[in-house]
Amino acid sequence: MKRLAAFCATLLGSLALTVASAAPDDRNVVLVTLDGVRIQELFGGFDEVIAGAPEAESGIYEIDVTRSRYARSTAKERREALMPFFWKTLAPAGMVFGNQALGSKVTVRNNQWFSYPGYSEILTGAAQPEIKSNDFVRYPHETVLDYVHRTLKLKPTEVAQIGSWDGFKYAASQKDGTFFMSGAYGIVPPELSTPDMDLMGRLREQVIENWEESSNDALTFHIALGYLKKNRPRVLWLGLGQSDDWAHARRYDRLLDYLHLADGFLAELWQTLQSLDGYRNNTTLVITTDHGRGRTPADWAEHDFGIEGSQDIWIAIIGPDTPALGEVQNFPDVTQSDVAATMLQYLGLDYRKFNPDAGPPVPGSLRTAQKTQ
Ligand SMILES: [Zn+2]
Repeated sequence: MKRLAAFCATLLGSLALTVASAAPDDRNVVLVTLDGVRIQELFGGFDEVIAGAPEAESGIYEIDVTRSRYARSTAKERREALMPFFWKTLAPAGMVFGNQALGSKVTVRNNQWFSYPGYSEILTGAAQPEIKSNDFVRYPHETVLDYVHRTLKLKPTEVAQIGSWDGFKYAASQKDGTFFMSGAYGIVPPELSTPDMDLMGRLREQVIENWEESSNDALTFHIALGYLKKNRPRVLWLGLGQSDDWAHARRYDRLLDYLHLADGFLAELWQTLQSLDGYRNNTTLVITTDHGRGRTPADWAEHDFGIEGSQDIWIAIIGPDTPALGEVQNFPDVTQSDVAATMLQYLGLDYRKFNPDAGPPVPGSLRTAQKTQ
């Protein structure tokens, strides 16, 4: 029985590989991470448990204003009020994993439950036990961005990391300068920039954020959009961080406002991709988070190992090779370690050659019968 199962798995594996390697070589992948976004807000919108807590715990300044914006009678209405593009456009045309109320669970495998270990797990396809801090250091693990750059022999500008925190830059690659990497206050070199991008770069220095080590996500987003249009990367990682900042600041009202804003970024990004030759109908957008947060009014603002809820995450995918199944139900468990292989399959690359210990692609996230181009 075991032997038969192993044989079937091998057969399925080689079939999956055949399909994956049939992907056209013009495919692109954009990874967007939204730091520390809980499943409660993503799947349920405005969380009455947090909002109904005393102001010292929710940090909501004017509850009537926040309620009028986001409180609705059902979870479906609440999440659509919070993130209308994500739920009305992206989800029905793609797949969303992690709604535990529907029997779909996505968790991290690392035992730290904070940022750098989460990003490293996303990008290397495995938990990396030696990463136990958010310190700005590189670790000697090839990332999925390194692997795509090396295997597809891409120019350094064709793989890009742009984000609001320097930790993204360090997590992106095992080596300095492998491809374009830009941290919190990074300046884009003139040959890769535009006057608009230069202005955003200068504004990063002037717009004061909650924490000095992070820059403003709106500016980061527009720098990334400018980079995309001008330099046409095959793979881009956009790392946004203010969801985590507002939560740590214990301002639930501003966190919700931020998620609504970030939903607009996703809409503009997707519409831009679909408007550009070279990206239209051949680009997959993968959206996920590095960790969850606590579930209670006392600990929703925090995350770390031991704060239950911090291990719960979610993944969303939209693209030409992903079935339009929407929110999945009664689905096999998925982990953060599965993101890298999922990205690679859209580029026709075999994750086992990248990292034999990596998690597999999320089941069912690649159309089994691709159209021949
Ligand atoms: Zn984080």
